[in-house]
Amino acid sequence: MTDRRTQLAANLAAVEERITGACAAAGRDRDEVTLIVVTKTYPASDVRILAGLGVLHVAENRDQDAAPKAAACADLPLTWHFVGQLQTNKARSVVGYADVVHSVDRARLVTALSAQAEAAGRELGCLIQVALDAAADGRGERGGVAPGGIAELAALVAAAPGLRLDGLMTVAPLSGEYAGRERAAFDRLMDLSTDLRRDHPAATMVSAGMSADLEEAVAAGATHVRVGSAVLGVRPRLG
Ligand SMILES: *Cc1c(COP(=O)(O)O)cnc(C)c1O
Repeated sequence: MTDRRTQLAANLAAVEERITGACAAAGRDRDEVTLIVVTKTYPASDVRILAGLGVLHVAENRDQDAAPKAAACADLPLTWHFVGQLQTNKARSVVGYADVVHSVDRARLVTALSAQAEAAGRELGCLIQVALDAAADGRGERGGVAPGGIAELAALVAAAPGLRLDGLMTVAPLSGEYAGRERAAFDRLMDLSTDLRRDHPAATMVSAGMSADLEEAVAAGATHVRVGSAVLGVRPRLG
């Protein structure tokens, strides 16, 4: 356990240094960027160590793993983010522990989250997940709505009881015109965020950047980076 703590502390310090460097290079203040540590596939004991090291935000992508982990860590001062594709039948469980859902990408999910947030007496932050590789009116393979669908979905979230529209999220596409062009993808997300904020000025969150591309995301203007393997280690399986 002590070894694990030492390892996580060193990884966290290295990631912190990368974020600080990226902010300096972009002329941004360090406090403009929030680190969210993606703890998927790793145990609650790691979450506890991270909280002890000062981590305030953690993310998960599968409800069946996240729910017990969040319950085991309920005593810790953490904000929980849900970043995975989400089935409507999991909305009730996710609303039970998540503070922010980054993967809102269809009307049915808005309806389900709203109903559950209302029933639980909670306010749930929502980011619209944008698929920059989706067909014009379609959805991405890994979730997300095409840019043309953002405005309609944002209006739905903004009007939904129990939900708060916080902003946009994306994952750099592996295919399509943005494949291998992370900076261009994140610049596009920033433009879409500017458009969104004309109608929804409080929706300022821009969630972009992971272990491999956090510098590009910070350079583009991301407010939140989601970092997993660079802190916890390479995952044994796809998660
Ligand atoms: C796993 C995951 C991350 C973190 O990815 P790493 O490459 O491990 O940093 C970020 N965002 C989402 C949506 C993820 O599923």
